[in-house]
Amino acid sequence: MPDKLHEECGVFGIYGQPEAATMAYLGLYALQHRGQESAGIATSDGVKLQVSRSMGYVADSFDAATLASLPGGTAIGHVRYSTAGESRLQNAQPFVIDCVHGEIAICHNGNLVNAQELRDELVRQGSIFQTTSDTEVLLHLYARSKAASVEAALVESVSQVRGAFSLVLLTKDLLIAVRDPHGFRPLALGRLGDAFIVCSETCALDLIGATYERDVEPGEVLLIGAHGMRSIKPFGTARLAHCVFEHVYFARPDSLVFGRTVLESRLQLGRQLAREAPADADVVCPVPDSGMGAALGFARESGLPFEWGLIRNHYVGRTFIQPRQGQRSVGVKIKLNPVRQVIEGRRVVLIDDSIVRGTTSRKIVRMVRDAGAREVHMRISSPPTTGPCYYGIDTPLRSELIASSHSVDEIRRFIEADSLAYLSHEGLLAAVGDDADRRHCTACFSGRYPVAVTVPDASQLRLFEKARA
Ligand code: SF4
Repeated sequence: MPDKLHEECGVFGIYGQPEAATMAYLGLYALQHRGQESAGIATSDGVKLQVSRSMGYVADSFDAATLASLPGGTAIGHVRYSTAGESRLQNAQPFVIDCVHGEIAICHNGNLVNAQELRDELVRQGSIFQTTSDTEVLLHLYARSKAASVEAALVESVSQVRGAFSLVLLTKDLLIAVRDPHGFRPLALGRLGDAFIVCSETCALDLIGATYERDVEPGEVLLIGAHGMRSIKPFGTARLAHCVFEHVYFARPDSLVFGRTVLESRLQLGRQLAREAPADADVVCPVPDSGMGAALGFARESGLPFEWGLIRNHYVGRTFIQPRQGQRSVGVKIKLNPVRQVIEGRRVVLIDDSIVRGTTSRKIVRMVRDAGAREVHMRISSPPTTGPCYYGIDTPLRSELIASSHSVDEIRRFIEADSLAYLSHEGLLAAVGDDADRRHCTACFSGRYPVAVTVPDASQLRLFEKARA
């Protein structure tokens, strides 16, 4: 089991570009870090929709022939990490249906917390589901709507779901973007000449040479078509709850998320951590890659040198064959290798973004000590992760989250560090610029869930079972 929390999905949409499928393909490349299990693109040529979905990385899912089979000037795309629903092709997005309102394709980042209730009711009324995904519930609600227009049917169906959703949808003549009123997951709007783009992170805009215009606002629906772009806000207002973990770990540091540069947030997280939990040490080393921004901030604030004490091998896949008995497990060493010249004889501060189970942290501390470190001080650029996420992030069993049942000193002993400190909750919010206009969700640290989860949701069942275990 990976000892990290995982983002579930990335979405991309483009309207008004002759090579829409290729642009979506490139956009998904930039969003690959948000999901590696499947990738898909749907396009419209103004008459009908085409779709291609595949398991695996974007690079493995599309070739020139596949992209050529996706004609049209409008496209949406999706990368998925399997959390809500099983990992199989049926659950890969975009989903495409044909209904009374015409053909429609959907890509979803987030998770609906009342999907199981809605699904049970729909099944009682005769609906037949093709997937185990929460997103399909939304399509059923849409297809059953008696509203007279695509827009009205969409608003009616989205009004019935609760939770986290950044959606891009495609009809034969419209690109539609929808963001939940809490703004859990990011969704940016960009332009490339006359073309409109919506995407999970601005790094996708950079790759295709597009400019960032603004975020799709929480609760906003954008309808983009031959008339241009129209914005409506049909869902009322709700307390903002931007996922703070996007800044801590999930998003790329070169992205602008919730109106703020992720790298700047990570530098501030590190600076704040250095102020709250200084270490008497010789060198600051990141646990790459996610600890790098915070380590740089920590080094700048503390005046300690920043050095590459651990090197990551970027070419390791999800699984690899372990050596037979009698040889040492390669474990974490296949991904990380210490640089003895940096570490030997020194007191090392290791910076990481989070500790989930603690097993990987222990291996890293041992590895650094084996490379000759005199002392190893672990600093974490977020508070202890104590609870699961219901809003689209893969979290392990609550019982597997070491901080849910152990004190900081117990964790320190488990990971075998000389000292351990986490960033405070207040320090976290200060570092990401939390204020009245930019409120964050911190539920997995604080236990304060912005949207209540009442009935187990099929798409979240695994998380629910895990949370109750
Ligand atoms: Fe993000 Fe944690 Fe809130 Fe989930 S519970 S949305 S991971 S801050």
